[in-house]
Amino acid sequence: MATLTPIFSAAELRTAQEFINQSNNVVILTHMSPDGDAMGSSLAMRHFLEAQGKHVSVIVPNAFPDFLAWLPKADEDIIYESRRAEADALLEQADLVICTDFNEPKRIGSLGDKLLSLTCRKMMIDHHLHPSDFPDLTLSYPASPSTCELVYRLITRLSPITDTRSSITEEIATCIYTGMMTDTGNFSFNSNYPEMYQIVGELVSLGVNKDEIYNRVFNAYSADRMRLMGYCLYQKMRIFPEHHTALIYLSRKELYRFNFQSGDAEGIVNLPLQIKDIHYSCFMREDKVNPTEVALAGGSKTKIKISLRSQGNRPVNVFAKDIFGGGGHANASGGEYYGPLPEAVQRFLDNYQDYFVL
Ligand code: 5GP
Ligand code: MN
Repeated sequence: MATLTPIFSAAELRTAQEFINQSNNVVILTHMSPDGDAMGSSLAMRHFLEAQGKHVSVIVPNAFPDFLAWLPKADEDIIYESRRAEADALLEQADLVICTDFNEPKRIGSLGDKLLSLTCRKMMIDHHLHPSDFPDLTLSYPASPSTCELVYRLITRLSPITDTRSSITEEIATCIYTGMMTDTGNFSFNSNYPEMYQIVGELVSLGVNKDEIYNRVFNAYSADRMRLMGYCLYQKMRIFPEHHTALIYLSRKELYRFNFQSGDAEGIVNLPLQIKDIHYSCFMREDKVNPTEVALAGGSKTKIKISLRSQGNRPVNVFAKDIFGGGGHANASGGEYYGPLPEAVQRFLDNYQDYFVL
């Protein structure tokens, strides 16, 4: 295939190779509420390093959704919330920690403090803006639509050209494809990059069954989740036509009514963008403050998780940062609010008109 633009420098590749060569125990971390790109990038790196004889563990801050549980070796991920002592021990023994798909320790909750306390080498592979400076090697490319694509580029550059086909096994290809697909909404946003399709073509020729992956990820709702989406659209969606904006919010009581499981809220924020002339969408859900976040919560028992999406040249990350102390990509951002849901909603209503102007 035509060669890809070599985005990593020779020095970066040399350092990455050296870090890998000099490590035996590797821990891979990825962000809170792992999505397809987080799961795909961490597991692809795991398979790649295991093939080189390394001992590798993947630690995720909290549970991943069922629709990603089929990914090869996802079932071996260690969930920090429930297996903290074991995860801490692995981190203390690690000689290399690889952080995929997040740019700052805050994005992994209480695992962040642990990460910063470690003296071993740290390497970041990520595509979010403004990477923090804790890693010894930062491979950060915000122009890339997914971390999985970066992992593909890294693995293929680290392997001798003749070896690329054998180093990207079908398992690795499957993990990588999953993240490329989910972070672009099945190639419907952030997806005008010719090289991305070159990579997809290569992955399919390596054995990826893209239709099956689509089905496993996007056609895997529980009936409860489907009904929750219906409820959101029928009863809960507020539309502000002058600002081309939609807002949906759910209390814990409402989530309980629909037997809410981790991952069930994924994608709800995108739904209003299917309405003609709606270009901005916000989704909020009430959550508990978990014991590790008490300091952040300042006495509040509730945490509101905010998701923002937009289309085209209408960034929502500035709003996410200014109003909800969050951030993210131009068209997909989020934040958190520690306090009651009605307060978070009011905060949105008081401010969105200043930001959502196009
Ligand atoms: P989601 O709405 O899927 O939870 O998040 C979309 C994107 O927004 C994530 O990929 C991440 O870049 C960003 N994001 C979500 N929540 C937060 C947050 O609390 N802080 C920051 N800095 N970014 C967030
Ligand atoms: Mn990502």
